[in-house]
Amino acid sequence: MSTQPRIINTVPTPRLVVITDLDGTLLDHHDYSARPARQALQRLRETGIPVIFNTSKTCDEVIKLRHDLDNTDPFVCENGSVIYIPKADGQGYNSEVLGISYVEILKALHILRKRGFRFRGFNDMPTSEVAALTGLDEDNAWLAKKRAATEPMLWTDSVNNIEDFRTQLAEFRLTLTKGGRFYHVMGDTNKASGLEFFRQYYQHLWQDRPLMAALGDGENDRSMLDAADFPIVIPGQSGTLELQRPDVVVAKSKGPAGWNSAILELLKQLSTGS
Ligand SMILES: [Mg+2]
Repeated sequence: MSTQPRIINTVPTPRLVVITDLDGTLLDHHDYSARPARQALQRLRETGIPVIFNTSKTCDEVIKLRHDLDNTDPFVCENGSVIYIPKADGQGYNSEVLGISYVEILKALHILRKRGFRFRGFNDMPTSEVAALTGLDEDNAWLAKKRAATEPMLWTDSVNNIEDFRTQLAEFRLTLTKGGRFYHVMGDTNKASGLEFFRQYYQHLWQDRPLMAALGDGENDRSMLDAADFPIVIPGQSGTLELQRPDVVVAKSKGPAGWNSAILELLKQLSTGS
């Protein structure tokens, strides 16, 4: 397995960039395997088409996955709030926060706590508590605690105070969104921020406009899919995301199997120009 980064300075044919959600999209919802997508991943690698992970996960969680999947491309973490580009010498990453940095988020939360709001963020929790709440094992819970630009939290205050909290967060240019398990405090970014960053990045690198194919299964993927040239919806566990555009492709099956067939189909379509 190579750990050397691939320097992508030659323009692939087609000049495509694949940007993808992980959980429930490239990774199976249940066993987190990407095996059924192997063939498409292999084809993309041979063609030199970058595969950018765009996920709510943290950097350290993604690094582990990239290694397992033999991926050496840049990636986006924490719902579009921070991007990572491998350094040319293979030693670490250059990162850029597109949202608000974790230190700034914690400062703002400290002030809001002093104003009387009650909540419990990942930064307030020991690893064991994050593990118990997320279902992650302790190692992965530890990685999930190493954050760059978003803070997941439990709201332990009255429900009536949540809108007031949201309004006061805005003073710090922060937003509050409700996820499956937690509320998330972050800057004004979403997964489309990551897509737009890499559209410009590859435009600059290739001196030509890249075609962006995006794949996702959840509500937090909507902005990314809306911004893509080729939006591909992977059927979700509880229903399929509906997009208001006629050119959306819905994969034939869930998770990595759907990912595989949709990408192979797109490559075929682009190579024949039909
Ligand atoms: Mg997902």
